[in-house]
Amino acid sequence: MTTVKPGATIGILGDGQLGRMMAIAAAEMGYKTHIFGQDATGPAAQVATKMTVADYTDEEALAKFAEDVEAVTLEFENIPTETLKFLEARVPVRPGRKVLEITQDRHLEKSFVNNLGAPTAQFCNVESLADLREGIERIGTPCILKTRRFGYDGKGQVKIDNATEIDEAWKTVGEQPSILEGFVPFELEISVIVARDIHGNVKTYIPVENIHKNHILDITLAPANILESVATHAEELAQKIADRLELVGLIAVEMFVTADGDVLINELAPRPHNSGHWTIEACATSQFHQSIRAACGLPLGNPDRHSNALMRNLIGDDVDHWQEILDHPDMKLHLYGKAQARAGRKMGHVTRLFPVGTAPKI
Ligand code: AMP
Repeated sequence: MTTVKPGATIGILGDGQLGRMMAIAAAEMGYKTHIFGQDATGPAAQVATKMTVADYTDEEALAKFAEDVEAVTLEFENIPTETLKFLEARVPVRPGRKVLEITQDRHLEKSFVNNLGAPTAQFCNVESLADLREGIERIGTPCILKTRRFGYDGKGQVKIDNATEIDEAWKTVGEQPSILEGFVPFELEISVIVARDIHGNVKTYIPVENIHKNHILDITLAPANILESVATHAEELAQKIADRLELVGLIAVEMFVTADGDVLINELAPRPHNSGHWTIEACATSQFHQSIRAACGLPLGNPDRHSNALMRNLIGDDVDHWQEILDHPDMKLHLYGKAQARAGRKMGHVTRLFPVGTAPKI
């Protein structure tokens, strides 16, 4: 299997902040990057060697891109699988199409997870208003209706507290194929990021706690304040998922932890993840370096942390506080170079380290 050596160009599908931080890590390791996306002046393009601005269905542009790069990776999972098929015929694509097919569709994803013996919220497929009514009778309220595809940061989903809200909920999701999920009364949300290399070796970052505000990740605390037995179980589940997907790359596994210590899988993201940004400062190998290692067929680095950490996202106007953040010598500011601070937009993040053994404080 191909090893992509330093000096080569890595292709990255997607042009946002994750692509930016992947490109920065790649540059540190001696690689060039070529971004394929839509935003010629966006976060990734600003730091990459090359940018192709084209639609993911533009085969001429994809063919040229494939010729210029020695491996392709991605920074978001909603790349059409036809695009990956086209590229895979020309160049190694890591992670590959099979992983994306499953993780792009909440129904396939949750079914896959259950088939591994890993628990999720109770769920059912919804293709019509009649399916939704039937699902609510079976699952009960409260429950959450989520579009099968293209949901992120709480978009494409609606909570249903009682049966009078059914018609409205179906309209809210755009009457699209969806899943209905039972509401999990979780105590906290955690995530585990696993990297898997071309030989099937895995390295796992410790479980972290994620706190959301308006459905968007606000704070990540590393490590999560959970029992060691729960942490080990969460890591094992995430590793099993990575193995069964035959993943080459990174996968972030978002999970709910209940008061009884049960762990339920919520969502998979086959790429670096917002809840792994703390690894840039706190770990021997950051998630971005790890993703480049995996994409290039290199051995994985040590994911262990030398510090605990708190990562806070800068969303919308939060970015206006950059000066105060810089005035604080222990805070590490990351800005993504986005021109406009729209509400709900991730503009940057801040990380603060704490000695291992002390609780990262908000
Ligand atoms: P998702 O887009 O699936 O990651 O959902 C976004 C957020 O909504 C999660 O991080 C949870 O805070 C909440 N959520 C999603 N699904 C459920 C569920 N079945 N039960 C309780 N809360 C949920």
